[in-house]
Amino acid sequence: ITEQGGGRIASLSAESHKVLNRRSLIDKKMLTALDHNSLQVVYQPQLDIVTGKVLVYEALVRWEDEEIGHIQPDELIPIAEENGLIHAIGAYVLEEAARLAVKLTANKPDIRISVNSSVREFGEASQMKEKLMGILEKTKCPADKLELEITEKFAFQAEQEHAIIQQMKAFEETGIRFILDDFGTGYASFRYMQQLPISKVKIDKVFINSLLTMPKTRQLVEGMILFGKSMGLYVIAEGVETEEQFEALKEMGVDAVQGYYIGAPVKGNEIS
Ligand code: C2E
Ligand code: CA
Ligand code: CA
Ligand code: CA
Repeated sequence: ITEQGGGRIASLSAESHKVLNRRSLIDKKMLTALDHNSLQVVYQPQLDIVTGKVLVYEALVRWEDEEIGHIQPDELIPIAEENGLIHAIGAYVLEEAARLAVKLTANKPDIRISVNSSVREFGEASQMKEKLMGILEKTKCPADKLELEITEKFAFQAEQEHAIIQQMKAFEETGIRFILDDFGTGYASFRYMQQLPISKVKIDKVFINSLLTMPKTRQLVEGMILFGKSMGLYVIAEGVETEEQFEALKEMGVDAVQGYYIGAPVKGNEIS
């Protein structure tokens, strides 16, 4: 028993050592990766139900390092938030997205690109608005070609709520739209939903996952769609993987869907 216990502890700590190692490697190599343009941005289509057209692509960051391997945004973003590089990454993704929006507009005049933004990019003294205006000017991208996705958790950070609403309102004047991402997973209250200058909500994929297997989830999603629409918002569902999920959501009156069933994220130059 002691031997087994000892072995388990030893392997556990070897495992956590590996995790720490990987983390510090990611941390260490991030700046160089940014400098060398090694970060990629891929784009996932959102299908608008009424027109049957893809009107929006969501920009998602990717990083493939020969030593570290594939680094998912869920791993990359929290580290970038900690080491402060999230500002540079955010600017990089925004600029890539703006360039693609301009390029696609020639063929698809209605197209828009949505970009995820982190709470850190909006902090009290953040230069987010100046940064955005600078990028729009440099790329000649009209503000209404971009959307910013903010997570529900972020928008409802109690200490910063007022400052965040103020910043978002200032942003809205530029013509940029806000999407409330991960809808249903956080603490959205009706009161604040009313104050936030958002034009869309995105129902989180955890709900779409169990949409057809749990009756309660179906009711919940139906409720979220009704609620969003009653607030005059455009409602998107993400993580749609099957035809059955797609049909069910369509029937419930969702405005748009995103997920592997519609299309996986692709490189910008693969979009025509
Ligand atoms: P998110 O905004 O909720 O993005 C959706 C995630 O779901 C993406 O993962 C996407 O590839 C994945 N996905 C798309 N369709 C399906 C599907 O049908 N089924 C399933 N199971 N998953 C699907 P990804 O790219 O790994 O991004 C993870 C998260 O990282 C994003 O979640 C977003 O919060 C964050 N993120 C990604 N790019 C950026 C960025 O440039 N800036 C910031 N601040 N955050 C980012
Ligand atoms: Ca998102
Ligand atoms: Ca989401
Ligand atoms: Ca997410």
